[in-house]
Amino acid sequence: LARTKATIQQTRRSNERLVLRTIYDDGPISRADVARATGLTRTTVSDLVETLLAEGLVVEAGTGPSTGGKAPILLRVPPDARHLVGVDVDRDRLSGAIVDLHGEVKHRESRTLEGRDGAGALEDLDALVAGLTAAAERPLVGIGIGTPGLVDTADGMVRWAVGLDWHDVPLGPRVSDLTGLPTIVVNDSQAAAMAEWTFEQRSGSSDMVVVKVGEGIGAGIIIGGRLYTGEESGAGEIGHTRVVDEGLPCRCGSQGCLETVSSVRAVVDRAQTLAGAGIATASRSARVSYASLLAEYRVGDPLARDVVLASAEPLGRVLGAMLGTLGISDVVLIGPMTAFGDDWLGRVTREARRSALPILAQRSHIHLGRSGDEAVEIGAAAMLMTSELGLALAV
Ligand SMILES: [Zn+2]
Repeated sequence: LARTKATIQQTRRSNERLVLRTIYDDGPISRADVARATGLTRTTVSDLVETLLAEGLVVEAGTGPSTGGKAPILLRVPPDARHLVGVDVDRDRLSGAIVDLHGEVKHRESRTLEGRDGAGALEDLDALVAGLTAAAERPLVGIGIGTPGLVDTADGMVRWAVGLDWHDVPLGPRVSDLTGLPTIVVNDSQAAAMAEWTFEQRSGSSDMVVVKVGEGIGAGIIIGGRLYTGEESGAGEIGHTRVVDEGLPCRCGSQGCLETVSSVRAVVDRAQTLAGAGIATASRSARVSYASLLAEYRVGDPLARDVVLASAEPLGRVLGAMLGTLGISDVVLIGPMTAFGDDWLGRVTREARRSALPILAQRSHIHLGRSGDEAVEIGAAAMLMTSELGLALAV
Protein backbone atom coordinates (compact mmCIF):
# COMPACT_ATOMS: atom_id res chain seq x y z
CA LEU A 1 0.00 0.00 0.00
CA ALA A 2 2.84 2.36 0.90
CA ARG A 3 4.44 1.72 -2.45
CA THR A 4 1.19 2.39 -4.32
CA LYS A 5 0.78 5.66 -2.44
CA ALA A 6 4.35 6.67 -3.30
CA THR A 7 3.78 5.82 -6.94
CA ILE A 8 0.60 7.88 -7.04
CA GLN A 9 2.40 10.84 -5.48
CA GLN A 10 5.25 10.46 -7.95
CA THR A 11 2.89 10.37 -10.91
CA ARG A 12 1.05 13.41 -9.63
CA ARG A 13 4.31 15.28 -9.20
CA SER A 14 5.53 14.41 -12.67
CA ASN A 15 2.16 15.38 -14.20
CA GLU A 16 2.25 18.66 -12.29
CA ARG A 17 5.70 19.40 -13.77
CA LEU A 18 4.45 18.52 -17.23
CA VAL A 19 1.48 20.89 -16.91
CA LEU A 20 3.67 23.66 -15.49
CA ARG A 21 6.20 23.26 -18.30
CA THR A 22 3.48 23.34 -20.94
CA ILE A 23 2.02 26.56 -19.49
CA TYR A 24 5.52 28.08 -19.18
CA ASP A 25 6.49 27.17 -22.76
CA ASP A 26 3.16 27.77 -24.51
CA GLY A 27 1.20 30.20 -22.28
CA PRO A 28 -1.12 32.01 -22.39
CA ILE A 29 -2.94 28.72 -22.94
CA SER A 30 -6.34 27.30 -21.97
CA ARG A 31 -6.85 24.22 -19.78
CA ALA A 32 -8.28 22.39 -22.81
CA ASP A 33 -5.16 23.10 -24.86
CA VAL A 34 -2.93 21.99 -21.98
CA ALA A 35 -4.87 18.72 -21.93
CA ARG A 36 -4.42 18.32 -25.68
CA ALA A 37 -0.68 19.11 -25.51
CA THR A 38 0.04 16.78 -22.58
CA GLY A 39 -2.35 13.91 -23.32
CA LEU A 40 -3.77 14.21 -19.77
CA THR A 41 -7.52 14.27 -19.15
CA ARG A 42 -9.20 17.64 -18.69
CA THR A 43 -10.20 16.66 -15.15
CA THR A 44 -6.57 15.87 -14.25
CA VAL A 45 -5.36 19.12 -15.83
CA SER A 46 -7.99 21.22 -14.00
CA ASP A 47 -7.08 19.55 -10.72
CA LEU A 48 -3.33 20.16 -11.20
CA VAL A 49 -3.92 23.74 -12.36
CA GLU A 50 -5.84 24.41 -9.11
CA THR A 51 -2.72 23.38 -7.17
CA LEU A 52 -0.44 25.53 -9.35
CA LEU A 53 -2.80 28.52 -8.98
CA ALA A 54 -2.81 28.07 -5.19
CA GLU A 55 1.02 27.93 -5.20
CA GLY A 56 1.12 31.11 -7.27
CA LEU A 57 3.23 29.46 -9.99
CA VAL A 58 0.45 29.98 -12.52
CA VAL A 59 -2.04 32.84 -12.93
CA GLU A 60 -5.15 33.32 -15.01
CA ALA A 61 -4.52 35.81 -17.79
CA GLY A 62 -7.71 36.90 -19.55
CA THR A 63 -9.75 34.85 -21.98
CA GLY A 64 -8.98 33.35 -25.35
CA PRO A 65 -11.14 33.28 -28.47
CA SER A 66 -14.36 31.31 -28.06
CA THR A 67 -14.79 28.25 -30.23
CA GLY A 68 -18.55 28.20 -29.91
CA GLY A 69 -19.13 28.05 -26.16
CA LYS A 70 -17.85 30.14 -23.30
CA ALA A 71 -14.51 31.88 -24.01
CA PRO A 72 -11.75 29.84 -22.31
CA ILE A 73 -9.70 31.30 -19.45
CA LEU A 74 -6.00 31.44 -20.35
CA LEU A 75 -3.14 30.50 -18.02
CA ARG A 76 0.46 31.64 -17.86
CA VAL A 77 3.54 31.48 -15.63
CA PRO A 78 4.48 35.03 -14.58
CA PRO A 79 8.28 35.59 -14.63
CA ASP A 80 8.08 36.89 -11.06
CA ALA A 81 6.17 33.87 -9.72
CA ARG A 82 9.45 32.67 -8.27
CA HIS A 83 12.98 34.01 -8.22
CA LEU A 84 16.28 32.14 -8.21
CA VAL A 85 19.65 32.97 -6.72
CA GLY A 86 22.71 32.40 -8.92
CA VAL A 87 26.25 32.67 -7.55
CA ASP A 88 29.55 32.86 -9.44
CA VAL A 89 32.53 31.78 -7.33
CA ASP A 90 35.58 33.25 -9.01
CA ARG A 91 39.08 33.10 -7.63
CA ASP A 92 39.13 36.74 -6.56
CA ARG A 93 35.50 37.59 -6.28
CA LEU A 94 32.08 36.22 -5.36
CA SER A 95 29.21 37.56 -7.45
CA GLY A 96 25.54 36.82 -6.92
CA ALA A 97 22.34 37.66 -8.72
CA ILE A 98 18.63 37.29 -8.16
CA VAL A 99 17.14 36.07 -11.43
CA ASP A 100 13.50 35.74 -12.52
CA LEU A 101 11.95 32.79 -14.35
CA HIS A 102 12.92 34.32 -17.70
CA GLY A 103 16.58 34.60 -16.72
CA GLU A 104 16.46 38.34 -16.19
CA VAL A 105 18.72 39.71 -13.44
CA LYS A 106 16.68 41.63 -10.85
CA HIS A 107 19.32 42.35 -8.22
CA ARG A 108 23.02 41.75 -7.74
CA GLU A 109 25.61 41.73 -4.97
CA SER A 110 29.28 40.87 -4.85
CA ARG A 111 32.19 40.53 -2.45
CA THR A 112 35.92 40.65 -3.10
CA LEU A 113 37.84 37.67 -1.72
CA GLU A 114 41.14 39.55 -1.55
CA GLY A 115 43.19 36.38 -1.38
CA ARG A 116 41.00 34.63 1.18
CA ASP A 117 40.54 30.95 0.41
CA GLY A 118 39.58 27.78 2.29
CA ALA A 119 37.28 28.45 5.27
CA GLY A 120 37.58 32.23 4.81
CA ALA A 121 36.14 32.07 1.31
CA LEU A 122 33.31 29.83 2.58
CA GLU A 123 32.41 32.43 5.22
CA ASP A 124 32.30 35.12 2.53
CA LEU A 125 30.06 32.89 0.44
CA ASP A 126 27.70 32.37 3.41
CA ALA A 127 27.50 36.14 3.87
CA LEU A 128 26.81 36.77 0.18
CA VAL A 129 24.07 34.14 0.08
CA ALA A 130 22.50 35.49 3.29
CA GLY A 131 22.46 38.98 1.77
CA LEU A 132 20.86 37.76 -1.44
CA THR A 133 18.16 35.68 0.26
CA ALA A 134 17.36 38.65 2.53
CA ALA A 135 17.04 40.93 -0.52
CA ALA A 136 14.65 38.59 -2.35
CA GLU A 137 11.20 40.08 -2.90
CA ARG A 138 9.63 36.90 -4.28
CA PRO A 139 9.60 33.28 -3.08
CA LEU A 140 12.91 31.67 -3.99
CA VAL A 141 13.24 28.34 -5.81
CA GLY A 142 16.72 27.89 -4.37
CA ILE A 143 20.39 28.67 -4.84
CA GLY A 144 22.50 27.73 -7.90
CA ILE A 145 26.26 27.99 -7.38
CA GLY A 146 28.87 27.87 -10.14
CA THR A 147 32.36 27.17 -8.82
CA PRO A 148 35.68 26.37 -10.47
CA GLY A 149 37.01 22.86 -10.09
CA LEU A 150 35.68 19.35 -9.87
CA VAL A 151 32.15 19.17 -8.54
CA ASP A 152 29.96 16.22 -7.65
CA THR A 153 26.61 17.81 -8.45
CA ALA A 154 24.57 14.87 -7.14
CA ASP A 155 25.63 15.51 -3.53
CA GLY A 156 26.74 19.15 -3.83
CA MET A 157 30.38 18.32 -3.05
CA VAL A 158 33.26 20.38 -4.36
CA ARG A 159 35.93 17.71 -4.75
CA TRP A 160 38.70 20.11 -5.56
CA ALA A 161 38.72 23.78 -6.50
CA VAL A 162 42.15 24.99 -7.56
CA GLY A 163 42.98 28.43 -6.21
CA LEU A 164 40.29 28.34 -3.51
CA ASP A 165 41.94 25.52 -1.58
CA TRP A 166 38.64 23.66 -1.31
CA HIS A 167 38.98 19.91 -0.96
CA ASP A 168 35.88 17.76 -0.42
CA VAL A 169 33.79 20.72 0.72
CA PRO A 170 30.07 19.85 1.10
CA LEU A 171 29.09 23.21 -0.37
CA GLY A 172 25.53 22.27 -1.38
CA PRO A 173 24.49 20.86 2.02
CA ARG A 174 26.21 23.79 3.79
CA VAL A 175 24.31 26.46 1.85
CA SER A 176 21.09 24.46 2.01
CA ASP A 177 21.37 24.20 5.82
CA LEU A 178 22.06 27.94 6.01
CA THR A 179 19.10 29.00 3.88
CA GLY A 180 16.64 26.12 4.12
CA LEU A 181 16.48 26.18 0.32
CA PRO A 182 17.38 23.61 -2.34
CA THR A 183 20.93 24.24 -3.54
CA ILE A 184 22.68 23.01 -6.66
CA VAL A 185 26.44 23.20 -7.17
CA VAL A 186 27.84 23.07 -10.70
CA ASN A 187 31.15 23.70 -12.44
CA ASP A 188 31.42 27.39 -13.41
CA SER A 189 32.53 26.92 -17.02
CA GLN A 190 29.75 24.40 -17.56
CA ALA A 191 27.17 26.81 -16.05
CA ALA A 192 28.42 29.63 -18.30
CA ALA A 193 28.25 27.31 -21.31
CA MET A 194 24.60 26.53 -20.53
CA ALA A 195 23.78 30.25 -20.32
CA GLU A 196 25.52 30.99 -23.61
CA TRP A 197 23.91 28.05 -25.38
CA THR A 198 20.44 28.74 -23.97
CA PHE A 199 20.27 32.49 -24.43
CA GLU A 200 22.80 33.67 -26.94
CA GLN A 201 23.15 31.06 -29.65
CA ARG A 202 20.72 31.11 -32.51
CA SER A 203 22.61 28.81 -34.86
CA GLY A 204 20.34 25.88 -34.01
CA SER A 205 23.29 23.54 -33.65
CA SER A 206 22.86 20.97 -30.89
CA ASP A 207 26.60 20.30 -30.44
CA MET A 208 28.82 23.07 -29.17
CA VAL A 209 31.89 23.73 -27.06
CA VAL A 210 31.82 26.93 -24.99
CA VAL A 211 35.20 27.91 -23.55
CA LYS A 212 35.43 30.43 -20.72
CA VAL A 213 38.77 32.22 -20.63
CA GLY A 214 39.21 34.32 -17.52
CA GLU A 215 41.16 33.82 -14.30
CA GLY A 216 40.72 30.15 -15.05
CA ILE A 217 40.12 28.35 -18.32
CA GLY A 218 37.43 25.71 -18.72
CA ALA A 219 35.01 24.42 -21.32
CA GLY A 220 31.40 23.34 -21.27
CA ILE A 221 30.60 20.63 -23.80
CA ILE A 222 27.06 20.45 -25.15
CA ILE A 223 26.18 17.31 -27.08
CA GLY A 224 22.72 16.76 -28.50
CA GLY A 225 21.45 19.84 -26.65
CA ARG A 226 22.56 18.51 -23.26
CA LEU A 227 25.50 19.42 -21.11
CA TYR A 228 28.06 16.63 -21.01
CA THR A 229 29.69 16.86 -17.57
CA GLY A 230 31.78 13.71 -17.38
CA GLU A 231 32.67 12.19 -14.03
CA GLU A 232 32.68 14.74 -11.18
CA SER A 233 32.17 17.46 -13.79
CA GLY A 234 35.66 16.87 -15.13
CA ALA A 235 34.72 17.14 -18.81
CA GLY A 236 36.16 20.29 -20.36
CA GLU A 237 38.65 20.89 -17.54
CA ILE A 238 41.28 22.02 -20.06
CA GLY A 239 42.98 24.71 -17.96
CA HIS A 240 45.42 22.26 -16.43
CA THR A 241 46.59 20.65 -19.65
CA ARG A 242 50.38 21.00 -19.71
CA VAL A 243 51.43 23.18 -22.62
CA VAL A 244 54.93 24.27 -21.54
CA ASP A 245 57.61 21.82 -20.43
CA GLU A 246 59.47 23.18 -17.40
CA GLY A 247 56.89 25.98 -17.33
CA LEU A 248 55.71 28.27 -14.57
CA PRO A 249 54.28 26.67 -11.43
CA CYS A 250 50.48 26.40 -11.44
CA ARG A 251 48.13 26.66 -8.50
CA CYS A 252 47.10 23.05 -9.11
CA GLY A 253 50.58 21.92 -8.04
CA SER A 254 51.73 21.10 -11.55
CA GLN A 255 53.67 23.36 -13.88
CA GLY A 256 53.30 24.75 -17.38
CA CYS A 257 49.48 24.38 -17.38
CA LEU A 258 47.42 26.27 -19.98
CA GLU A 259 46.25 28.59 -17.18
CA THR A 260 49.85 29.65 -16.54
CA VAL A 261 50.12 31.13 -20.04
CA SER A 262 46.67 31.94 -21.48
CA SER A 263 44.54 33.15 -18.56
CA VAL A 264 43.90 36.76 -17.49
CA ARG A 265 46.24 36.29 -14.52
CA ALA A 266 48.96 34.90 -16.81
CA VAL A 267 48.93 37.80 -19.29
CA VAL A 268 48.81 40.43 -16.52
CA ASP A 269 51.73 38.76 -14.71
CA ARG A 270 53.70 38.44 -17.95
CA ALA A 271 53.16 42.11 -18.84
CA GLN A 272 54.14 43.08 -15.28
CA THR A 273 57.35 41.04 -15.50
CA LEU A 274 58.32 42.61 -18.84
CA ALA A 275 57.44 46.11 -17.62
CA GLY A 276 59.54 45.46 -14.49
CA ALA A 277 62.45 44.42 -16.70
CA GLY A 278 62.44 47.91 -18.15
CA ILE A 279 60.68 47.03 -21.38
CA ALA A 280 58.20 49.84 -20.97
CA THR A 281 56.51 52.51 -22.97
CA ALA A 282 55.27 55.92 -21.94
CA SER A 283 51.71 54.68 -21.61
CA ARG A 284 52.56 51.83 -19.25
CA SER A 285 51.22 52.04 -15.74
CA ALA A 286 53.52 51.15 -12.87
CA ARG A 287 51.15 48.42 -11.74
CA VAL A 288 49.69 46.32 -14.57
CA SER A 289 46.07 45.27 -14.19
CA TYR A 290 43.56 43.67 -16.55
CA ALA A 291 42.02 47.10 -17.16
CA SER A 292 45.36 48.85 -17.82
CA LEU A 293 46.56 46.07 -20.11
CA LEU A 294 43.30 46.16 -22.07
CA ALA A 295 43.53 49.96 -22.44
CA GLU A 296 47.14 49.73 -23.70
CA TYR A 297 46.26 46.87 -26.05
CA ARG A 298 43.44 48.91 -27.53
CA VAL A 299 45.67 51.89 -28.30
CA GLY A 300 48.12 49.53 -30.01
CA ASP A 301 50.87 49.36 -27.40
CA PRO A 302 53.35 46.83 -28.93
CA LEU A 303 54.25 45.09 -25.68
CA ALA A 304 50.61 44.70 -24.63
CA ARG A 305 49.79 43.28 -28.07
CA ASP A 306 52.75 40.87 -28.03
CA VAL A 307 51.89 39.53 -24.60
CA VAL A 308 48.17 39.10 -25.34
CA LEU A 309 48.56 37.58 -28.79
CA ALA A 310 51.30 35.17 -27.65
CA SER A 311 48.94 33.98 -24.91
CA ALA A 312 46.35 33.03 -27.55
CA GLU A 313 48.56 30.42 -29.20
CA PRO A 314 48.69 27.66 -26.57
CA LEU A 315 44.94 28.10 -26.07
CA GLY A 316 44.41 27.60 -29.79
CA ARG A 317 46.49 24.43 -29.79
CA VAL A 318 44.45 22.93 -26.93
CA LEU A 319 41.22 23.85 -28.73
CA GLY A 320 42.54 22.17 -31.88
CA ALA A 321 43.01 18.97 -29.87
CA MET A 322 39.42 19.30 -28.63
CA LEU A 323 38.11 19.69 -32.18
CA GLY A 324 39.78 16.42 -33.04
CA THR A 325 38.65 14.61 -29.89
CA LEU A 326 35.01 15.63 -30.00
CA GLY A 327 34.38 16.28 -33.68
CA ILE A 328 32.40 19.37 -32.69
CA SER A 329 32.99 22.25 -35.08
CA ASP A 330 31.12 25.02 -33.26
CA VAL A 331 33.38 26.60 -30.62
CA VAL A 332 32.34 29.71 -28.69
CA LEU A 333 34.74 31.74 -26.57
CA ILE A 334 33.45 33.74 -23.59
CA GLY A 335 34.94 35.42 -20.52
CA PRO A 336 37.18 38.44 -19.86
CA MET A 337 39.90 37.51 -22.39
CA THR A 338 37.39 37.89 -25.24
CA ALA A 339 37.59 41.67 -24.67
CA PHE A 340 40.88 41.46 -26.61
CA GLY A 341 38.67 41.00 -29.63
CA ASP A 342 39.20 39.86 -33.19
CA ASP A 343 43.01 39.88 -33.27
CA TRP A 344 43.15 37.62 -30.19
CA LEU A 345 40.41 35.42 -31.69
CA GLY A 346 42.29 35.30 -35.00
CA ARG A 347 45.42 34.03 -33.29
CA VAL A 348 43.45 31.41 -31.31
CA THR A 349 41.75 30.25 -34.52
CA ARG A 350 44.97 30.07 -36.54
CA GLU A 351 46.65 27.86 -33.93
CA ALA A 352 43.55 25.68 -33.45
CA ARG A 353 43.40 25.02 -37.19
CA ARG A 354 47.09 24.24 -37.35
CA SER A 355 46.75 21.58 -34.68
CA ALA A 356 43.65 19.78 -35.99
CA LEU A 357 43.12 17.44 -38.90
CA PRO A 358 42.75 19.73 -41.97
CA ILE A 359 39.23 18.58 -42.79
CA LEU A 360 38.07 19.22 -39.20
CA ALA A 361 39.95 22.52 -39.14
CA GLN A 362 38.22 23.72 -42.30
CA ARG A 363 34.82 22.89 -40.91
CA SER A 364 35.46 24.51 -37.53
CA HIS A 365 33.80 27.77 -36.60
CA ILE A 366 35.45 29.47 -33.63
CA HIS A 367 33.74 32.69 -32.59
CA LEU A 368 33.18 35.07 -29.70
CA GLY A 369 30.09 34.53 -27.55
CA ARG A 370 27.68 37.17 -26.35
CA SER A 371 27.27 36.21 -22.71
CA GLY A 372 27.84 39.06 -20.31
CA ASP A 373 29.53 39.02 -16.94
CA GLU A 374 26.59 37.18 -15.40
CA ALA A 375 26.79 34.01 -17.51
CA VAL A 376 27.76 31.80 -14.55
CA GLU A 377 24.99 33.16 -12.27
CA ILE A 378 22.35 32.82 -14.98
CA GLY A 379 23.56 29.39 -16.07
CA ALA A 380 23.60 28.08 -12.49
CA ALA A 381 20.08 29.48 -11.97
CA ALA A 382 18.93 27.85 -15.23
CA MET A 383 20.21 24.46 -14.09
CA LEU A 384 18.48 24.93 -10.71
CA MET A 385 15.24 25.78 -12.46
CA THR A 386 15.44 22.56 -14.45
CA SER A 387 16.23 20.42 -11.42
CA GLU A 388 13.63 21.99 -9.10
CA LEU A 389 10.75 22.95 -11.39
CA GLY A 390 11.37 20.85 -14.49
CA LEU A 391 11.53 24.04 -16.56
CA ALA A 392 14.19 24.85 -19.14
CA LEU A 393 14.90 28.56 -19.29
CA ALA A 394 14.21 29.84 -22.75
CA VAL A 395 13.64 33.25 -24.29
ZN1 LIG B 1 47.41 23.64 -13.31
